[in-house]
Amino acid sequence: MGLKVAKFGGSSLADASAFERVKKIVLADPSRRYVVPSAPGKRFPGDDKITDLFYLCHAYAQKSLPIEDIVTAIEQRYVEIADQLKLDLDIKAYLLEIKEQIYQERTPDFAASRGEYLNGVILAAHLGYAFIDAAKIIAFNQQGRLDLTATGNLVALELANHHQAVIPGFYGAKPDGTIKTFSRGGSDITGSILARSMQAELYENWTDVSGILMADPRIVDDPRPISLITYSELRELAYNGANVMHEAAIYPVRQAGIPINIRNTNIPENQGTMIISSVDRQPFTGDITGIAGRKDFVIISIEKALMNSELGFVRRLLSILEEHAISFEHLPSGIDTVSLVILESELDGKLDLVLRQIDNNLSPDKVEVFHDIALIATVGQSMAYRSGIAAKLFNALAQLDINVRMIDQGSSEINIIVGIENRDFEKAIRQIYTTYVKS
Ligand code: ASP
Repeated sequence: MGLKVAKFGGSSLADASAFERVKKIVLADPSRRYVVPSAPGKRFPGDDKITDLFYLCHAYAQKSLPIEDIVTAIEQRYVEIADQLKLDLDIKAYLLEIKEQIYQERTPDFAASRGEYLNGVILAAHLGYAFIDAAKIIAFNQQGRLDLTATGNLVALELANHHQAVIPGFYGAKPDGTIKTFSRGGSDITGSILARSMQAELYENWTDVSGILMADPRIVDDPRPISLITYSELRELAYNGANVMHEAAIYPVRQAGIPINIRNTNIPENQGTMIISSVDRQPFTGDITGIAGRKDFVIISIEKALMNSELGFVRRLLSILEEHAISFEHLPSGIDTVSLVILESELDGKLDLVLRQIDNNLSPDKVEVFHDIALIATVGQSMAYRSGIAAKLFNALAQLDINVRMIDQGSSEINIIVGIENRDFEKAIRQIYTTYVKS
């Protein structure tokens, strides 16, 4: 039988009853052999995340301010969990040691990692699984970059001795032993690396929603969940603003061809979203897979007669951006036109200078700047195979008199991006959703 790696997010481990639910889920399937916990998350709106409290400890310690009160608040959370689960663990002793280490180590990474570390100790005791410190097997190089090859070897070697284990997420260690964390939300990455290193048949990512939704629920009422999505579609949605999982968590499993299943700890019977590679997804059902978008872009539109025959025009244009360290998102072009789509924040105070240089270096016929632009990506593998899907999108927007300022379709044809005005953003997303999903 193949094995599964199951990662549980902070909201799935926020209190003792959440731990009970996790235990039920893990023990219900013997192939769930390696379990990766996050640190306890918020129990209610306004509650503290343990990781944030640990970062605070570090900041206080750096300024030689007392950290006792924060440590006590952390201790209470863990003691409550361990007591209610009736575990024989001396949480106070653990925290006493951690407190001393925070002063000794003096790095934010060390402090923050303790949230996962302690949650791992508790979860291992609760499940009756071995506890393996991630510092032993998740290897960063001395510059702080993950060393995937060394990690793969260490994981395979260590886990060969443990049929079942809990490995805390979010951190590992450099060759000199110092603790290094991934960026925020990085327990997803630990799970992905373990799944890859152990050649798991599935990477389960347990959270507090039933998978990925077709659109942002703050904009669309009760959007449908996506049951099946390819890695490429997911990348488009995530890049264009959908809040899914840590982006860096996709690569290790995607490369190894391991599917990801996003599941809801509170509704375990729901099958959630399965993320697979595109070759496994045929035939494609439904018109689109999902919609995502972001606001606050600027479009700089440049027109010049015979631009198409002017050698090096776009290169010179892009070198102006490079000179100012401005990255662009899209570059739609016509025969005599090219547009730069750039995040407003990237241009911060540099727009006038950039426009002047475009004028001086490229002698364009006309340059127009449109502010307050929102981009909406409509994503679906089907779009590459079926005709008429794009037409439906433009008709839908025209029906509401929404002015489309830019259109871009990647060469993979799995998405169409439209640039519209910020104020039309929510309206347009609702319209696109209704058009494809309800008609
Ligand atoms: N606990 C860490 C954070 O809050 C990592 C994670 O939850 O994945 O960012």
